[in-house]
Amino acid sequence: MALIVQKYGGSSVADAESIKRVAKRIVDTRRAGHDVVVAVSAMGDTTDELLDLANEVAPIPAPRELDMLLSSGERISMALLAMAIHSMGFEARSFTGSQAGMITDSQHGAARIVDVTPVRLREALDEGAIVIVAGFQGFNRDTRDITTLGRGGSDTTAVALAAALDADVCEIYSDVDGIFTADPRVIPLAQKLDHISSEEMLELAANGAKVLYIRAVEYARRHGVLIHARSTFSSAEGTFVLGEGMKNPRESEGAAMEEPIVAGVATDFSQAKITVAGVPDVPGKAAEIFKIVAKSGANVDMIVQNVSATGRTDISFTVPKADAAGALKALAGEQAEVGFQNLVHDDQIGKLSVVGAGMRTHSGVSATLFEALSAAGINIEMISTSEIRISVVLRDADLAEAARAVHTAYGLDGEAEATVHAGTGR
Ligand code: ASP
Ligand code: MG
Repeated sequence: MALIVQKYGGSSVADAESIKRVAKRIVDTRRAGHDVVVAVSAMGDTTDELLDLANEVAPIPAPRELDMLLSSGERISMALLAMAIHSMGFEARSFTGSQAGMITDSQHGAARIVDVTPVRLREALDEGAIVIVAGFQGFNRDTRDITTLGRGGSDTTAVALAAALDADVCEIYSDVDGIFTADPRVIPLAQKLDHISSEEMLELAANGAKVLYIRAVEYARRHGVLIHARSTFSSAEGTFVLGEGMKNPRESEGAAMEEPIVAGVATDFSQAKITVAGVPDVPGKAAEIFKIVAKSGANVDMIVQNVSATGRTDISFTVPKADAAGALKALAGEQAEVGFQNLVHDDQIGKLSVVGAGMRTHSGVSATLFEALSAAGINIEMISTSEIRISVVLRDADLAEAARAVHTAYGLDGEAEATVHAGTGR
């Protein structure tokens, strides 16, 4: 008998029928003899609808009240789910984040979990109940207020519960079948991975893959939680996300698998490029520019600067599209001070990233990428690398074709097209 934590995303509990289907799945796990703790998201688009409503009554809703409002979405789904399980003849008890002992810092809308004290959950489990916990929310001890963890926060709730209860596995259910070598909507021949390391998963998530949330993967990595990402809509096994030194539960003793060099390809359409042109090529200019950009609140990703022959140089960088206007305005305000000649804004870019832990030990990984792009006649505008990732910025119109060419070049193509249930991974 194991202790299994299951997380169901909003699309898995979108209506009464879906809630009943999820209840059945939970009951089946219980029937198999396991203890079950469930973290549940708000039904369907409830969180978005509540946000819209808040914005209708106040242009900038008070953060404390916004958390009160948004946390109610998960209270609806948790109670309905517990009722559905009851009616199937099983004991189930729902708990809000604060009842479950999710202690967070006080930052409304983006709170971090600092402690989990699941006393009431343990009691309920000991009494044989199935435990349902509202995802995405917690409680701050100093302010004594309800907090929320940021969009997609129910993944983190599930992982934190799994860590605190020392669960055997944290199953994250959504409307996609697992982690793929690429987004199947961009690359139809993408394959579902049997497993992936948490460090590779983090790089993919940070570079555009949307299946799992970065904070949840980080939390799992820090606390040694085994994640199994799988689909609510099929009984097929999904993908295991393995932390350092963790064994793949599917791997038979001794039969170590050959790890591929590249785990996956990520595509990201969400960035824009800003070029600060004609910057005096003297010490301190990059510091001035990026201090201004940081003060505007923009989150810089890639940076490229060339040596100059003329005493002036261009500095290009990428930021999320939503941050670009603020960064441009801030820079324009300091143009005379910094002494650059002009600013160029380009939001027609796409970022392609190749991720694989095998890059540490294999040479020629970047050559394969550049050859594939060259054969496809695609121009590269920026390049950056980490120990296990290579990213390039291209024209956004070229990104899908580039990703397909690169996916093929690394031998990642599957035999048949992946089934896409029009899922979002939530
Ligand atoms: N309901 C919240 C959201 O939509 C949390 C979650 O789904 O994980 O962001
Ligand atoms: Mg949601």
